[in-house]
Amino acid sequence: MARRKVIAVPLRYKCPLCGKHSRKLRNLALHIAMKKDQVHKDWRRRHGLPEDYKTRKEAMSIAKSIEKIIRQDEEKYRTYVEA
Ligand SMILES: [Zn+2]
Repeated sequence: MARRKVIAVPLRYKCPLCGKHSRKLRNLALHIAMKKDQVHKDWRRRHGLPEDYKTRKEAMSIAKSIEKIIRQDEEKYRTYVEA
């Protein structure tokens, strides 16, 4: 019987504000864009983004800017965990 090899994917992203893990950079960006608590709002303000949004479309556009910000300093948003 062939054994299935389980390949671990240890590389993930982590929100520097609340520690939430995301598998994809895109998901992390969306998380930071949409979270409505004060720390995430402050983070958006510090990065020159709107603190709040009304529609999902607005949130998506904020997330796009956040993706660029993360890519400039990606190590800071990564975490290495055992799968
Ligand atoms: Zn967070």
